[in-house]
Amino acid sequence: MKKNNNNNNSIKIEDYKDIIGADMLHALICIAKRLKGIKVQHINSTKIGGGVAEILYRMAPLMNGLGINTSWDVINVKDSRFYDVTKKIHNTLQGENLEFSAEEWDLYFKVQQQNSKVIDKTADVVFIHDPQPLGLIKYRRMHQKFIWRCHIDMSNANYKVWQKLRGMAEKYDAAIFHTQYFAKELSIPLYILGPSIDPLSDKNKPLEQQFVKKVLKDYHINPQKPIILQVSRFDRFKDPIGVIMAYQMVKKEIDCQLILAGGAADDDPEGIEVYNEIIKFAQDDKDIHILNLPPDSHLIINALQCAADVILQKSLKEGFGLTVSEALWKKKPVIAGNVGGIKKQMIDNVTGFLVNTVEGCAYSIRQLLNSKDISAKMGKLGHEYIKENFILPVHLR
Ligand code: UDP
Repeated sequence: MKKNNNNNNSIKIEDYKDIIGADMLHALICIAKRLKGIKVQHINSTKIGGGVAEILYRMAPLMNGLGINTSWDVINVKDSRFYDVTKKIHNTLQGENLEFSAEEWDLYFKVQQQNSKVIDKTADVVFIHDPQPLGLIKYRRMHQKFIWRCHIDMSNANYKVWQKLRGMAEKYDAAIFHTQYFAKELSIPLYILGPSIDPLSDKNKPLEQQFVKKVLKDYHINPQKPIILQVSRFDRFKDPIGVIMAYQMVKKEIDCQLILAGGAADDDPEGIEVYNEIIKFAQDDKDIHILNLPPDSHLIINALQCAADVILQKSLKEGFGLTVSEALWKKKPVIAGNVGGIKKQMIDNVTGFLVNTVEGCAYSIRQLLNSKDISAKMGKLGHEYIKENFILPVHLR
């Protein structure tokens, strides 16, 4: 079993007082008191890369800080072909039409069995995140409550694959989806609950201007030229090619630069392939910066987000898209795909623009680059909206 380093860490809830206020702080402490004695375990498939790891690496320590005994573990995968299968599951749930062989499903279930010991038998409540460890339900103890948390945009899920997963999901005690836009009908209780960003993490805490300048210098980014940024794993559903096309349209009228900052996740085998596609499509344009960053580049990503004039998340499917909340928290105007969990984080035309096409994206970029007033207003409103709805203490409550 891969034990996560953060298991024994804890973060003090009092550190959030200035952001959430005394009443909310008090409410959280009271709720946590009622849960004292309960042991919680989170299980997912990677401790680095992607939104689920991003949430858990702060959520588990804050739960501990509140006095709720919480651990976070990841499944141990010896056969990397498992990730090819689970990425295929991910892609079909987001609408692709792919066939699975019996061998692929056999491998999926074999890895579940191999990981049965990852389940902490003393845990009272076990949260299983996403489909990769979904089959662990077979190995629950009688006294345990199992909750499946789905972080994937299921609005157009492949029927056959979903039926297979549904059989497992319905053995859980409850399921959680980020939004009603893609929640599935299940015979178990269903909850709608958006995830969150942590305003105090390295990814989101305030930075010194000097540090932001240094990061731009390190990556040869011109601080004088408007910056359009998208931060995403290199994944086709994040539409990196569409982002470059939109930038190219804008570039005809405004001298700007584009940063595509991404990296790998342990459980995403397609990253390199997509990265190479992007490099090829960018064709040596010196104003396109494609940064393949190490997974722990939280401060660098924070700095890039702080330096950007406009932040994109032009996804074609999106479970949530934490990067949207991260950008809005930094008071940046956001242009994002009108899909999945993104729609929950933004009020169109108020805190940013939701777009369906490359042309719409280019139009909105031009509009924001041409009006600092609109950008500032949207960023400010966006910050307030995220603060009310999508920060970690609110999520935990
Ligand atoms: N992220 C990162 N490095 C990267 C790409 C993404 O740290 O190279 C972070 C990003 O800042 C966000 C999370 O990973 O916190 C991605 O979550 P999101 O919900 O946006 O997308 P997912 O990867 O889960 O589909």
